[in-house]
Amino acid sequence: MTRAPALGAARRAAHPGGFPPPAAAGAGGASGSPTPLLEVRDLKKYYPIRRGVFGRVEGFIRAVDGVSFDLYEGETLGLVGESGCGKTTTGRTILRLVEPTGGRVRYRGQDITRLPARALRRLRREMQIIFQDPFGSLDPRMTAGQIVAEPLVVHGVPRRERERRVAELLERVGLAPQDARRLPHEFSGGQRQRLSIARALALRPRLVVCDEPVSALDVSIQSQILNLLMELQREYGLTYLFIAHDLNVVRHVSDRVGVMYLGRLVELADADELYARPAHPYTQALLSAIPEPDPERRRERIVLRGDVPSPARPPSGCRFHTRCPLAQDRCRREEPAWRPIRPGHWVACHFAEEAMGQAS
Ligand code: SF4
Repeated sequence: MTRAPALGAARRAAHPGGFPPPAAAGAGGASGSPTPLLEVRDLKKYYPIRRGVFGRVEGFIRAVDGVSFDLYEGETLGLVGESGCGKTTTGRTILRLVEPTGGRVRYRGQDITRLPARALRRLRREMQIIFQDPFGSLDPRMTAGQIVAEPLVVHGVPRRERERRVAELLERVGLAPQDARRLPHEFSGGQRQRLSIARALALRPRLVVCDEPVSALDVSIQSQILNLLMELQREYGLTYLFIAHDLNVVRHVSDRVGVMYLGRLVELADADELYARPAHPYTQALLSAIPEPDPERRRERIVLRGDVPSPARPPSGCRFHTRCPLAQDRCRREEPAWRPIRPGHWVACHFAEEAMGQAS
Protein backbone atom coordinates (compact mmCIF):
# COMPACT_ATOMS: atom_id res chain seq x y z
CA MET A 1 0.00 0.00 0.00
CA THR A 2 1.80 3.13 -1.16
CA ARG A 3 0.84 6.66 -0.37
CA ALA A 4 -0.31 8.72 -3.32
CA PRO A 5 1.20 12.10 -4.09
CA ALA A 6 -1.72 14.38 -3.39
CA LEU A 7 -2.77 17.42 -5.31
CA GLY A 8 -3.17 19.33 -2.08
CA ALA A 9 0.52 19.29 -1.18
CA ALA A 10 1.46 22.24 -3.37
CA ARG A 11 -1.36 24.35 -1.99
CA ARG A 12 -0.47 23.57 1.58
CA ALA A 13 3.15 24.43 0.89
CA ALA A 14 1.92 27.93 0.05
CA HIS A 15 0.03 28.00 3.33
CA PRO A 16 2.31 26.53 5.96
CA GLY A 17 -0.08 27.25 8.83
CA GLY A 18 -2.74 25.21 7.08
CA PHE A 19 -5.13 25.75 9.93
CA PRO A 20 -5.83 29.05 11.60
CA PRO A 21 -6.64 28.91 15.30
CA PRO A 22 -10.31 29.20 16.30
CA ALA A 23 -9.61 32.80 17.31
CA ALA A 24 -8.93 33.58 13.65
CA ALA A 25 -12.25 32.11 12.60
CA GLY A 26 -13.49 33.74 9.45
CA ALA A 27 -10.09 35.14 8.58
CA GLY A 28 -9.47 32.20 6.28
CA GLY A 29 -5.85 31.82 7.32
CA ALA A 30 -2.76 33.80 6.48
CA SER A 31 -3.15 36.55 3.91
CA GLY A 32 -2.14 35.59 0.39
CA SER A 33 -2.90 31.92 1.06
CA PRO A 34 -5.23 29.93 -1.22
CA THR A 35 -8.89 29.81 -0.27
CA PRO A 36 -9.72 26.45 1.31
CA LEU A 37 -12.35 24.28 -0.36
CA LEU A 38 -13.88 23.81 3.08
CA GLU A 39 -13.59 26.02 6.17
CA VAL A 40 -14.96 24.60 9.39
CA ARG A 41 -15.18 27.00 12.32
CA ASP A 42 -16.17 26.22 15.90
CA LEU A 43 -18.50 23.45 14.71
CA LYS A 44 -20.78 22.06 17.40
CA LYS A 45 -23.29 19.25 17.51
CA TYR A 46 -25.12 18.67 20.81
CA TYR A 47 -27.79 16.03 21.34
CA PRO A 48 -30.33 16.73 24.09
CA ILE A 49 -30.67 14.21 26.94
CA ARG A 50 -34.38 13.92 27.65
CA ARG A 51 -35.90 12.41 30.78
CA GLY A 52 -39.37 11.78 32.16
CA VAL A 53 -42.82 11.59 30.62
CA PHE A 54 -42.59 15.11 29.18
CA GLY A 55 -39.13 14.58 27.76
CA ARG A 56 -37.61 17.41 29.78
CA VAL A 57 -34.11 18.30 28.53
CA GLU A 58 -31.65 17.56 31.34
CA GLY A 59 -28.42 18.14 29.54
CA PHE A 60 -26.60 17.64 26.27
CA ILE A 61 -24.26 15.09 24.75
CA ARG A 62 -21.54 17.28 23.26
CA ALA A 63 -20.64 15.02 20.35
CA VAL A 64 -18.76 17.78 18.52
CA ASP A 65 -17.74 20.74 20.62
CA GLY A 66 -15.88 23.48 18.80
CA VAL A 67 -14.03 21.88 15.89
CA SER A 68 -12.18 24.14 13.41
CA PHE A 69 -10.06 23.27 10.39
CA ASP A 70 -9.47 24.04 6.72
CA LEU A 71 -9.48 21.51 3.92
CA TYR A 72 -7.71 22.33 0.66
CA GLU A 73 -8.62 21.21 -2.82
CA GLY A 74 -7.03 17.88 -3.73
CA GLU A 75 -5.81 17.00 -0.25
CA THR A 76 -6.78 14.26 2.16
CA LEU A 77 -7.29 15.23 5.76
CA GLY A 78 -7.48 12.23 8.07
CA LEU A 79 -9.56 12.46 11.25
CA VAL A 80 -8.71 9.91 13.92
CA GLY A 81 -9.66 9.15 17.49
CA GLU A 82 -11.31 6.48 19.60
CA SER A 83 -14.89 5.47 19.01
CA GLY A 84 -17.24 8.18 20.30
CA CYS A 85 -14.72 11.04 19.91
CA GLY A 86 -17.02 12.85 17.45
CA LYS A 87 -15.19 12.26 14.17
CA THR A 88 -18.12 10.64 12.36
CA THR A 89 -20.54 13.29 13.68
CA THR A 90 -18.12 15.97 12.44
CA GLY A 91 -18.20 14.49 8.92
CA ARG A 92 -21.98 14.21 8.86
CA THR A 93 -22.53 17.67 10.33
CA ILE A 94 -20.27 19.23 7.69
CA LEU A 95 -22.50 17.72 4.99
CA ARG A 96 -25.58 18.68 7.00
CA LEU A 97 -26.77 15.09 7.13
CA VAL A 98 -27.24 16.12 10.75
CA GLU A 99 -27.88 19.80 11.53
CA PRO A 100 -25.16 21.63 13.45
CA THR A 101 -25.94 23.14 16.85
CA GLY A 102 -23.44 25.94 16.31
CA GLY A 103 -20.47 27.09 14.29
CA ARG A 104 -20.02 27.61 10.59
CA VAL A 105 -19.07 25.62 7.51
CA ARG A 106 -18.01 27.41 4.35
CA TYR A 107 -17.78 25.47 1.11
CA ARG A 108 -15.94 27.32 -1.68
CA GLY A 109 -16.39 30.49 0.31
CA GLN A 110 -20.17 30.05 0.77
CA ASP A 111 -21.65 29.61 4.24
CA ILE A 112 -23.67 26.41 3.92
CA THR A 113 -24.67 26.14 7.56
CA ARG A 114 -28.00 27.86 7.07
CA LEU A 115 -28.48 27.28 3.38
CA PRO A 116 -32.16 26.55 2.51
CA ALA A 117 -32.95 22.91 1.57
CA ARG A 118 -33.28 23.62 -2.16
CA ALA A 119 -29.92 25.36 -2.46
CA LEU A 120 -28.34 22.68 -0.29
CA ARG A 121 -29.64 19.98 -2.62
CA ARG A 122 -27.94 21.64 -5.58
CA LEU A 123 -24.69 21.78 -3.64
CA ARG A 124 -24.94 18.14 -2.61
CA ARG A 125 -23.85 17.19 -6.11
CA GLU A 126 -20.40 18.36 -5.10
CA MET A 127 -20.33 16.87 -1.59
CA GLN A 128 -20.73 13.14 -1.15
CA ILE A 129 -20.14 10.52 1.53
CA ILE A 130 -18.94 6.92 1.54
CA PHE A 131 -20.20 5.01 4.57
CA GLN A 132 -18.49 2.33 6.65
CA ASP A 133 -21.12 -0.33 6.11
CA PRO A 134 -21.86 -0.56 2.38
CA PHE A 135 -24.52 -3.22 3.00
CA GLY A 136 -26.45 -0.99 5.38
CA SER A 137 -26.21 2.04 3.07
CA LEU A 138 -27.36 0.27 -0.13
CA ASP A 139 -31.03 -0.48 -0.76
CA PRO A 140 -31.19 -4.33 -0.89
CA ARG A 141 -34.06 -4.24 -3.43
CA MET A 142 -32.26 -2.11 -6.00
CA THR A 143 -29.85 -3.46 -8.60
CA ALA A 144 -26.30 -2.11 -8.73
CA GLY A 145 -27.21 -0.16 -11.86
CA GLN A 146 -30.18 1.47 -10.14
CA ILE A 147 -28.12 2.29 -7.07
CA VAL A 148 -25.45 4.11 -9.06
CA ALA A 149 -28.07 5.79 -11.27
CA GLU A 150 -30.28 7.01 -8.40
CA PRO A 151 -28.42 10.29 -7.68
CA LEU A 152 -28.38 10.98 -11.43
CA VAL A 153 -32.17 10.48 -11.57
CA VAL A 154 -32.68 12.78 -8.59
CA HIS A 155 -30.62 15.48 -10.29
CA GLY A 156 -32.41 15.10 -13.63
CA VAL A 157 -29.63 13.64 -15.77
CA PRO A 158 -31.19 12.34 -19.06
CA ARG A 159 -31.54 8.55 -19.41
CA ARG A 160 -29.01 7.98 -22.18
CA GLU A 161 -26.38 10.00 -20.36
CA ARG A 162 -27.25 8.12 -17.13
CA GLU A 163 -26.73 4.71 -18.70
CA ARG A 164 -23.43 5.76 -20.18
CA ARG A 165 -22.22 7.16 -16.88
CA VAL A 166 -23.32 4.11 -14.83
CA ALA A 167 -21.43 1.73 -17.16
CA GLU A 168 -18.36 3.95 -17.06
CA LEU A 169 -18.42 4.23 -13.24
CA LEU A 170 -18.90 0.51 -12.66
CA GLU A 171 -15.95 -0.21 -14.88
CA ARG A 172 -13.83 2.48 -13.25
CA VAL A 173 -14.30 1.05 -9.76
CA GLY A 174 -13.45 -2.47 -10.96
CA LEU A 175 -16.93 -3.97 -11.51
CA ALA A 176 -18.16 -5.54 -14.75
CA PRO A 177 -20.96 -4.03 -16.92
CA GLN A 178 -23.13 -7.12 -16.26
CA ASP A 179 -22.85 -6.41 -12.50
CA ALA A 180 -25.38 -3.62 -13.10
CA ARG A 181 -28.15 -6.25 -12.93
CA ARG A 182 -27.05 -7.80 -9.63
CA LEU A 183 -28.45 -7.04 -6.15
CA PRO A 184 -26.23 -5.89 -3.24
CA HIS A 185 -26.36 -9.27 -1.44
CA GLU A 186 -24.84 -10.93 -4.51
CA PHE A 187 -21.61 -8.95 -4.06
CA SER A 188 -18.73 -9.49 -1.65
CA GLY A 189 -17.99 -6.82 1.00
CA GLY A 190 -15.21 -5.29 -1.11
CA GLN A 191 -17.40 -5.23 -4.23
CA ARG A 192 -20.20 -3.56 -2.28
CA GLN A 193 -17.80 -0.85 -1.18
CA ARG A 194 -16.73 -0.40 -4.83
CA LEU A 195 -20.42 0.04 -5.63
CA SER A 196 -20.77 2.68 -2.87
CA ILE A 197 -17.79 4.52 -4.30
CA ALA A 198 -19.29 4.44 -7.81
CA ARG A 199 -22.52 5.87 -6.42
CA ALA A 200 -20.69 8.60 -4.49
CA LEU A 201 -18.84 9.62 -7.67
CA ALA A 202 -21.90 9.57 -9.94
CA LEU A 203 -22.46 13.32 -9.66
CA ARG A 204 -18.76 14.16 -10.05
CA PRO A 205 -18.27 15.58 -6.57
CA ARG A 206 -15.34 17.69 -5.43
CA LEU A 207 -15.47 16.75 -1.76
CA VAL A 208 -15.99 13.23 -0.44
CA VAL A 209 -16.32 12.38 3.25
CA CYS A 210 -14.98 8.84 3.62
CA ASP A 211 -16.46 7.60 6.90
CA GLU A 212 -14.47 4.51 7.96
CA PRO A 213 -14.65 3.21 4.37
CA VAL A 214 -12.53 0.10 4.98
CA SER A 215 -13.22 -0.75 8.65
CA ALA A 216 -15.78 -3.42 7.81
CA LEU A 217 -13.54 -5.12 5.22
CA ASP A 218 -10.96 -7.91 5.45
CA VAL A 219 -7.40 -6.63 5.71
CA SER A 220 -6.58 -8.16 2.31
CA ILE A 221 -9.36 -6.11 0.68
CA GLN A 222 -8.66 -2.90 2.59
CA SER A 223 -5.55 -2.00 0.61
CA GLN A 224 -7.35 -2.57 -2.71
CA ILE A 225 -10.10 -0.13 -1.73
CA LEU A 226 -7.60 2.41 -0.36
CA ASN A 227 -5.57 2.23 -3.57
CA LEU A 228 -8.75 2.69 -5.59
CA LEU A 229 -9.69 5.76 -3.53
CA MET A 230 -6.23 7.25 -4.06
CA GLU A 231 -6.30 6.56 -7.82
CA LEU A 232 -9.72 8.20 -8.09
CA GLN A 233 -8.47 11.19 -6.14
CA ARG A 234 -5.64 11.73 -8.63
CA GLU A 235 -7.87 11.13 -11.62
CA TYR A 236 -10.80 13.33 -10.59
CA GLY A 237 -9.00 15.86 -8.36
CA LEU A 238 -11.08 14.82 -5.35
CA THR A 239 -10.72 16.22 -1.86
CA TYR A 240 -11.18 13.74 0.99
CA LEU A 241 -12.08 14.07 4.63
CA PHE A 242 -11.00 10.59 5.67
CA ILE A 243 -12.43 9.39 8.98
CA ALA A 244 -11.00 6.25 10.59
CA HIS A 245 -9.91 4.80 13.90
CA ASP A 246 -7.04 2.81 12.36
CA LEU A 247 -3.97 5.04 12.46
CA ASN A 248 -2.07 2.89 9.98
CA VAL A 249 -4.81 3.30 7.40
CA VAL A 250 -5.01 7.05 7.97
CA ARG A 251 -1.26 7.44 7.65
CA HIS A 252 -1.22 5.79 4.23
CA VAL A 253 -3.90 7.96 2.67
CA SER A 254 -3.62 11.33 4.43
CA ASP A 255 -1.63 14.47 3.69
CA ARG A 256 -2.54 15.89 7.10
CA VAL A 257 -4.04 14.22 10.15
CA GLY A 258 -6.25 15.64 12.91
CA VAL A 259 -6.64 13.81 16.21
CA MET A 260 -9.94 14.16 18.09
CA TYR A 261 -10.72 13.56 21.74
CA LEU A 262 -14.12 14.09 23.39
CA GLY A 263 -15.55 16.24 20.62
CA ARG A 264 -12.47 18.41 20.09
CA LEU A 265 -9.36 18.44 17.92
CA VAL A 266 -6.29 18.05 20.12
CA GLU A 267 -3.59 17.90 17.43
CA LEU A 268 -3.26 18.51 13.69
CA ALA A 269 -0.18 18.26 11.48
CA ASP A 270 1.21 16.89 8.23
CA ALA A 271 0.92 13.10 8.38
CA ASP A 272 4.68 12.48 8.40
CA GLU A 273 5.25 15.14 11.05
CA LEU A 274 2.46 13.86 13.29
CA TYR A 275 3.68 10.27 13.18
CA ALA A 276 7.34 11.22 13.65
CA ARG A 277 6.88 13.95 16.28
CA PRO A 278 3.52 13.64 18.07
CA ALA A 279 3.18 16.49 20.55
CA HIS A 280 -0.03 15.65 22.41
CA PRO A 281 0.08 12.89 25.05
CA TYR A 282 -3.13 11.42 23.62
CA THR A 283 -1.65 11.17 20.11
CA GLN A 284 1.47 9.62 21.61
CA ALA A 285 -0.63 6.99 23.38
CA LEU A 286 -2.57 6.16 20.20
CA LEU A 287 0.64 5.82 18.18
CA SER A 288 2.29 3.68 20.85
CA ALA A 289 -0.49 1.11 20.42
CA ILE A 290 0.32 0.52 16.71
CA PRO A 291 2.20 -2.78 16.30
CA GLU A 292 5.68 -2.06 14.92
CA PRO A 293 7.69 -5.02 13.62
CA ASP A 294 10.96 -3.03 13.50
CA PRO A 295 12.37 -3.01 17.08
CA GLU A 296 14.43 0.13 16.24
CA ARG A 297 11.28 2.12 15.55
CA ARG A 298 9.08 0.56 18.20
CA ARG A 299 7.65 3.06 20.72
CA GLU A 300 7.22 2.36 24.39
CA ARG A 301 3.57 1.43 24.93
CA ILE A 302 1.59 4.11 26.80
CA VAL A 303 -1.44 2.60 28.51
CA LEU A 304 -4.04 5.23 29.30
CA ARG A 305 -5.77 4.95 32.64
CA GLY A 306 -9.56 4.91 32.95
CA ASP A 307 -12.22 5.22 30.29
CA VAL A 308 -13.16 8.09 28.02
CA PRO A 309 -15.35 10.43 30.16
CA SER A 310 -18.96 11.05 29.16
CA PRO A 311 -19.36 13.74 26.49
CA ALA A 312 -22.35 14.91 28.55
CA ARG A 313 -19.98 15.98 31.35
CA PRO A 314 -16.55 16.67 29.87
CA PRO A 315 -13.82 17.25 32.49
CA SER A 316 -12.83 20.81 33.42
CA GLY A 317 -9.69 22.41 31.99
CA CYS A 318 -8.03 20.01 29.57
CA ARG A 319 -10.56 17.30 28.73
CA PHE A 320 -7.79 14.73 28.64
CA HIS A 321 -6.51 15.42 32.17
CA THR A 322 -8.34 12.46 33.76
CA ARG A 323 -6.26 10.06 31.64
CA CYS A 324 -3.11 12.00 30.83
CA PRO A 325 0.16 10.65 32.22
CA LEU A 326 1.60 14.21 32.22
CA ALA A 327 -1.38 15.99 33.85
CA GLN A 328 -0.61 18.73 36.37
CA ASP A 329 -2.77 21.06 38.47
CA ARG A 330 -2.93 23.65 35.73
CA CYS A 331 -4.46 21.05 33.39
CA ARG A 332 -7.45 20.59 35.69
CA ARG A 333 -8.08 24.34 35.90
CA GLU A 334 -7.20 25.79 32.55
CA GLU A 335 -8.25 24.78 29.07
CA PRO A 336 -5.17 24.58 26.82
CA ALA A 337 -5.02 27.00 23.88
CA TRP A 338 -4.92 25.69 20.32
CA ARG A 339 -1.45 26.81 19.22
CA PRO A 340 1.26 26.06 16.65
CA ILE A 341 4.24 24.16 18.02
CA ARG A 342 6.06 23.92 14.68
CA PRO A 343 5.11 25.23 11.20
CA GLY A 344 1.81 23.60 10.26
CA HIS A 345 1.72 21.58 13.50
CA TRP A 346 -1.05 22.59 15.94
CA VAL A 347 -1.74 21.21 19.38
CA ALA A 348 -3.93 21.84 22.43
CA CYS A 349 -1.70 20.99 25.40
CA HIS A 350 -0.05 23.20 28.05
CA PHE A 351 3.03 20.99 28.10
CA ALA A 352 3.35 19.89 24.47
CA GLU A 353 7.06 20.83 24.32
CA GLU A 354 7.82 18.61 27.32
CA ALA A 355 5.62 15.80 25.93
CA MET A 356 7.44 16.02 22.60
CA GLY A 357 10.82 15.96 24.33
CA GLN A 358 9.92 12.88 26.34
CA ALA A 359 8.64 11.02 23.29
CA SER A 360 11.75 11.62 21.15
FE1 SF4 B 1 -2.06 16.30 29.50
FE2 SF4 B 1 -2.13 18.69 30.63
FE3 SF4 B 1 -1.43 18.46 28.09
FE4 SF4 B 1 -3.94 18.04 28.82
S1 SF4 B 1 -2.82 19.98 28.95
S2 SF4 B 1 -2.76 16.80 27.43
S3 SF4 B 1 -3.66 17.06 30.79
S4 SF4 B 1 -0.33 17.66 29.87
